This record gives sequence, C-alpha cells and structure tokens, in this order.
Amino acid sequence: MNPFFISTIIGTVLRLKRTCPKCKRDQVVSAGKRQESVSCKFCGTDIPPNK
Ligand SMILES: [Zn+2]
Repeated sequence: MNPFFISTIIGTVLRLKRTCPKCKRDQVVSAGKRQESVSCKFCGTDIPPNK
C-alpha cells in the first residue's frame, strides 16, 4: 500500500469515530450511520453525529 492510501483509510476511520458525551469512551460507528445518532455501545446514550 502506498502512504496516500493508508492516510485515506486513517482519515475515514477518524471521521467515523465518536466520543460518548456521557461516558467519554471512543467508538467507531458504521459508515452507514455517519449522519445519524447512534447509541453508545457502552452506556446506551445517544451520540449525535459529528458536525
Ligand atoms: Zn457512553
């Protein structure tokens, strides 16, 4: 893999990463849920999509 491809993958993962406002734990949401609120998999709190 070339470095550009690797940085593109890392950038995609970072966009899908969310931090729960309640328990402050990081988690990666599926790409299809990128624009939607998701439930924290640790405490169940709704996490709004990143702006
Ligand atoms: Zn949480």
